[in-house]
Amino acid sequence: MRCLLPAILFLPLVACAEPGPEQCLEVVLTGTQGGPPAVNGLAGAGTLVRYGSAESQCNDLQLQFDVGRGTTIRLSQLGLSPNDIDAVFLTHMHSDHTEGLLGLMQLRWHYTGGPVDLVCAADAGLNGHTLSCRSFSEHIGDAFISAGEIAQRREENSLRHEDGPAGLIQLREVAKTTAPVVVWQSGEVSVSAITTTHIPGSLAYRVDTPAGSVVIGGDAGNEKTAPPRSSSTSETVEALAYGADLLVHSAIHPIFAPDGGSTFPAPTYFRQSNAGDLGAMAKRAGVGQLVLTHLIPTLDTPSHGPFSVPGGDLDAASFESAARKSGFEGRVHVGKDLLSVRLP
Ligand SMILES: [Zn+2]
Repeated sequence: MRCLLPAILFLPLVACAEPGPEQCLEVVLTGTQGGPPAVNGLAGAGTLVRYGSAESQCNDLQLQFDVGRGTTIRLSQLGLSPNDIDAVFLTHMHSDHTEGLLGLMQLRWHYTGGPVDLVCAADAGLNGHTLSCRSFSEHIGDAFISAGEIAQRREENSLRHEDGPAGLIQLREVAKTTAPVVVWQSGEVSVSAITTTHIPGSLAYRVDTPAGSVVIGGDAGNEKTAPPRSSSTSETVEALAYGADLLVHSAIHPIFAPDGGSTFPAPTYFRQSNAGDLGAMAKRAGVGQLVLTHLIPTLDTPSHGPFSVPGGDLDAASFESAARKSGFEGRVHVGKDLLSVRLP
């Protein structure tokens, strides 16, 4: 375990317990699709963090960060059902990170699972619109309620919650914060959050355990949303990631930069962190391993949704070499669904 903490920006979040050889932390990408497109059978964005004894294969605690399309299918490939998830954390209220929550909660409701914590940002405004995790969660089962299914299935099994899937959600809203705050804890596992720049209400998370630490950056980008700036990456994520063993972060390839010959919208490009800058950030923060996910463009495809890739499709090596240009010497993992990294 790496227990370095930033000397200037933030106070330590948790005491660093000695690693026990009997404990392990495993991070599994449950979906690596970048953005809304559906391509090549990839699941939507999500990262599962598992912790526990080595004997249980780190299987004692299951924390799901973002729940993109197809998350329940990926969990099933790990032998997990929605009832096994201990808490869900959302980085932001974009459908590619949230749409799988309906399937997960409906199935949990169907099989009479217990309540589950949902950690996400408090309501945040943008141009007169409100981005609301609260409203999303309260209405998550509405289509099935209005279709009559919830009432009909409750007649078959009265143990199912009378309010439908929304009735199982224990909402834990995170107020906007410029310093990490502990938002969830269980025994020796602690999860902290910090507000980031992407859309209002975006959060990054850090999980600290005696077996290691992992930061989930989400789609965070720099506080300056367009050049000129020193980096496309988020300064708050960098501070949160200081000394972490693993950094899992959405990545866009520089091939989609506005001067690269693609028609990818410049504002969308600029609000993501590019792979080269992520490598540089990982180096500055002393991160052990960098996991690139939510890849734009999708690997091995000539177009990302309607946007063709200049020069043809990219492979994993092209993302890794972009990340390494900074001189980052730690391990770089280029995300594929169900890629897993285990610590220590
Ligand atoms: Zn996204």
